[in-house]
Amino acid sequence: MTTSTHNRSKWLDVELRLDSGVYNKHEVVMVRGQGATVWDDQGRAYIDCVAGYGVANIGHSHPDVVRAVQEQAGKLMVMPQTLPNDKRAEFLGELVGVLPVGLERVFLCNSGTEAMEAAKKFAITATGRQRFVSMRRGFSGRSLGALALTWEPKYREPFGDAVDNKNVDFVTYGNVEELRAAVTDQTAAVILEPVQGEGGVHPATPEFIRAAREITREKGALLILDEIQTGFCRTGKMFASEHYGVTPDGMTLAKAMAGGVPIGAFAMTAEVADRMPKGGHGTTFGGNPLSMAAGVAAIRAMKNEGMAEQAREKGTYLMERLRAIRSPRIKEVRGLGLMIGVELHEPSAPYITALEHEEGVLTLAATPMVVRFLPPITITREQIDAVVAAFERVLAAGPDREPEAMVREDKQTE
Ligand SMILES: *Cc1c(COP(=O)(O)O)cnc(C)c1O
Repeated sequence: MTTSTHNRSKWLDVELRLDSGVYNKHEVVMVRGQGATVWDDQGRAYIDCVAGYGVANIGHSHPDVVRAVQEQAGKLMVMPQTLPNDKRAEFLGELVGVLPVGLERVFLCNSGTEAMEAAKKFAITATGRQRFVSMRRGFSGRSLGALALTWEPKYREPFGDAVDNKNVDFVTYGNVEELRAAVTDQTAAVILEPVQGEGGVHPATPEFIRAAREITREKGALLILDEIQTGFCRTGKMFASEHYGVTPDGMTLAKAMAGGVPIGAFAMTAEVADRMPKGGHGTTFGGNPLSMAAGVAAIRAMKNEGMAEQAREKGTYLMERLRAIRSPRIKEVRGLGLMIGVELHEPSAPYITALEHEEGVLTLAATPMVVRFLPPITITREQIDAVVAAFERVLAAGPDREPEAMVREDKQTE
């Protein structure tokens, strides 16, 4: 396939002119999606291994979610959480039904970052402590409170002391001794991702997750798992924690939970929930009937269509195929389920750009050296084969390209 010389879309110019400018925008305008395929406004199809950063797990525009949103939109879209609502109750039942036993109460919000903020506040009121232990290479979101948990300096440094992380201790992901030393009787919670996504797709070892459970229990701190990216079948189980046989005291959720509609949640034990004073936290849009209807449809589709099983099988297949690529550029292929990273010996950006421009395959970075694959779980075997063949071709061609197809720095992920 050659680089298309399509007309530059007027929509692209408008976005570039009027958007805040914080995003490294690609020169395409996406207008439609179905399953694991998205189309731009020139009619070109792409295999989507970004899936909205791991949102479209059940595929773009899943028909059940579309129907649920259409129906609910004509009925009731907003209702504050002080006023109970049938769809919200239905969603809470669905969600608690799939959560690990013990997590039985839910704070509803609208994004992953908000779920992290809620996790911090609930951990503080549950323990009467204010210190947190977070992971190097971890990612927790972009608000000032969530940023304080984020180790990577490039996200924090532009904001100086406004990001107050003097209450946060960072430990090396996987290092049990460091973790043990960091957790004290001042620690409210240890917060970690079962698989670090943004940090380069690193699955935790079972020893580390189990040690985190034991150490927090000994010290009276909470264990909070950030399952914002790993949750909802992405790793081959409904939640990644199931791979480790560990139940946390709290879990942050968002991304795929409502099949593409904005949503977030902090799920927790009754003990944690009961210690937050009435009025201690809240949000206007959280638990709105529109997201709730989408969430009910999405979780049911995950169960009915065996999405966890599918992610396990297709993830194994994609990982095997990627491992079979004979390229000196590849350092390591790793992941869990359909959350896969290929670490290169060189920057990944030229290859991500080439995949998009030359092959019609969307992927994303995770640290500058990793190509990340987060396709919808509905991706077909044929599509997986096409993705692997395309990746092989761009690796063989190398990083030097036509000026037009040259790299725009593509570090922007979440
Ligand atoms: C995406 C992500 C977040 C932030 O979620 P937003 O919805 O972008 O605010 C936090 N933690 C992890 C692990 C994520 O992948």
